[in-house]
Amino acid sequence: MEKTIFNVVSFSGGKDSTAMLLKMIEEKIDIDCVLFCDTGLEFPQMYEHIDKVERETGIHITRVKAEKSFEYYMFDYPVARRDNSPVKMRYGDVKGFGWPGPRMRWCTKTLKTEPRERFIKGSKEHYEIRYYVGLAADEGYRFNRKNNQQANHVHPLVDWNMTEADCLKYCYDRGYDWGGLYEHFKRVSCWCCPLQSLEELRNLRKYYPEQWAKLLEWEKHNFRNFRADYSADELEKRFAFEEECLAKGMKISGKEFHTLLKERLSQDTR
Ligand code: SF4
Repeated sequence: MEKTIFNVVSFSGGKDSTAMLLKMIEEKIDIDCVLFCDTGLEFPQMYEHIDKVERETGIHITRVKAEKSFEYYMFDYPVARRDNSPVKMRYGDVKGFGWPGPRMRWCTKTLKTEPRERFIKGSKEHYEIRYYVGLAADEGYRFNRKNNQQANHVHPLVDWNMTEADCLKYCYDRGYDWGGLYEHFKRVSCWCCPLQSLEELRNLRKYYPEQWAKLLEWEKHNFRNFRADYSADELEKRFAFEEECLAKGMKISGKEFHTLLKERLSQDTR
């Protein structure tokens, strides 16, 4: 027997999935569930935005979470590591996954994919799940990822030819501004994400000091550096040094800057 289709909107709260949801409502496309996987580390402005979307559209947003917090998995989860695992060989018997990295995105699996699959599991028996995914028309590099090629994933923004810039404008035009988050970040997700660009981390320090202070605090308890190129402390020193340079009318890029920065970082570690 053919199963009934169950339409799930993958909703991160960001500009693309918000534009997708708003336009789906306007176009009267069937929606059975709007699903938000909460890592617990979104900006407060993002949680406010999600509440606002729910309030103003009247559509219920289902929030799912992992059993434990991001911090628990990062610091305390008892990871079973073989004796020859690179982490064990380098850091010994440490708990937790540590900071995520480009090749260790444990957070996506543990805090997003698994809670989503647990939630959806029951419905799979009775329905054929169709996921609406907010990939913008100009995000070809993400579109090519295996995960986004699944037969039950649909990409309405691509069909509507809406780029990332179109999505942001679409949302702004309808009164959604995320408390200014998109003035400081190209993408908005966990504020502590080590995969952000330097520019975004600079803005995190400048405009969101509370989150930046927490990030520095978490670095103290982490067995691994925040990024391969800089620890969080080094980033703090770099950004402070940049401010000094700018105040003196100096550039914060180029060979000269990097030579001076290297000297500054090595002085501070003596
Ligand atoms: S935004 Fe970064 S920290 Fe958050 S789940 Fe994604 S990869 Fe992990």
